[in-house]
Amino acid sequence: MSGKTEIYKEVLRDYERLRSQKSAELREKQTQLYKKFPRLADIEREMNITGVRLARLILEQPVDYIQKAERLRKHTAELKTEKLEILRSNRIPENFLELSYNCTKCHDTGFIDGKECTCFKQKLVDKAYDQSNLKDIIKNENFDFFDIRYYSTEKDPERNISPRENIQDILAVCIKFTQDFDKKFQNLLLYGKTGLGKTFLCNCMAKELLDSGKTVMYVTASQLFKLIEEDRFNRIGDEDIPSHYMDDILSVDLFIIDDLGTEFSTILSSAELFNIINTRLINRKPVVISTNLSMEDIINQYSDRIVSRIVGSYTSLEFFGDDIRMIKKFDMMK
Ligand SMILES: [Zn+2]
Repeated sequence: MSGKTEIYKEVLRDYERLRSQKSAELREKQTQLYKKFPRLADIEREMNITGVRLARLILEQPVDYIQKAERLRKHTAELKTEKLEILRSNRIPENFLELSYNCTKCHDTGFIDGKECTCFKQKLVDKAYDQSNLKDIIKNENFDFFDIRYYSTEKDPERNISPRENIQDILAVCIKFTQDFDKKFQNLLLYGKTGLGKTFLCNCMAKELLDSGKTVMYVTASQLFKLIEEDRFNRIGDEDIPSHYMDDILSVDLFIIDDLGTEFSTILSSAELFNIINTRLINRKPVVISTNLSMEDIINQYSDRIVSRIVGSYTSLEFFGDDIRMIKKFDMMK
């Protein structure tokens, strides 16, 4: 992983690249459009000339200023109507020749009034933790695609509820979690066997929040513990320097740890895990944890202080039923 300044510069360059790519695309669109409808090019030119004339008029303020300005304004309005008419009759959207922005808040500059936009902060996180493809991966994973029909309607005798009813409840909690994100501080623990949609739901929540301009850091437990170990290794002899990944983990709006229990942990790295969970709790910053472990495994595998934080401050959502990936596969073969 490269240093913080390097990453910052890289992200700045990415924004520059994005902006020039967008304007190049726009120019190309314009060329194509004007080739097909030359009158539109004339109109554009004429509108520019009229604009310049009007500006000069305002500067010079001749005696017949009012009449002349009125005429120019009327002419501009006529040109505009004609342009819209051509577009409309050819079913071309009115904003066809407007720049489209990935971020409408900062117009892809990364900054609003000199302050970093959330999209910029998210890009820093993406780059630093190699999750640049997070947005692509989760492009198609949103709540609308979550198919509860794969879950059995047969009641689980132990729990007195069917996997379908259970997943409906869980889905509702996850949707509410993203909807009330600003209003209500909540942490989630998604636990249960593999293949029941835990990661999918984590992705849905990440996507929903990224779309609403929040910053999200998404790591698997193995990635997280590797990060902790590597960082400590790099700082041997320099322990006073604070680890730079920790700032990010503690400051992102939502921190997601996927697949807890698969990591290789040491006493020190598990102390760091406690530190993350505890500090975010104190700062009222939400965490979502997903794990294939059962509640019993969690209690056995983690220190008491970690367990007490999770049990005490997380909404636990238990997933049960048959592996839906197998059912899906079988479904496709039919
Ligand atoms: Zn932005």
